[in-house]
Amino acid sequence: MHCPFCSAKDTKVIDSRLVGGGHQVRRRRECIACHERFTTFEGAELVMPRVIKRDGSREPFNEDKLLNGLHRALERRPVKTEQVDEVVHQIKSQIRATGEREVSSLLIGECIMEALKGLDKVAYVRFASVYRSFEDIREFGEEIARLGD
Ligand SMILES: [Zn+2]
Repeated sequence: MHCPFCSAKDTKVIDSRLVGGGHQVRRRRECIACHERFTTFEGAELVMPRVIKRDGSREPFNEDKLLNGLHRALERRPVKTEQVDEVVHQIKSQIRATGEREVSSLLIGECIMEALKGLDKVAYVRFASVYRSFEDIREFGEEIARLGD
């Protein structure tokens, strides 16, 4: 690829490693002309189904939205970035595995809850409490009790 600094046509790869649980390749490159260094990420581009929102409208699947939701739930939790990447991959695979061209936002919410349950129980409860808007404090307590088992 061309150098983003001087547009020279040749850059060389000086380091290459797997990231995101092995689903991406991160490369450090150096420009042969100006010697500036930069990073590129390479990952498979897979088509995601469209999302049917609660009001019936459709929108493209938005990975940033998914990440924001996860980060909110995982705020100040001892979870590594790589673990979050892995969960994102897991959720996307699950959604793609439906084989549907459109999936409901509810199904995506369920996938997120499943993934969080295995990752961090506090984050799971945070997400579930917002997502399911627990009817009352008793229901919330029952969910937490179930987690203790
Ligand atoms: Zn350059």
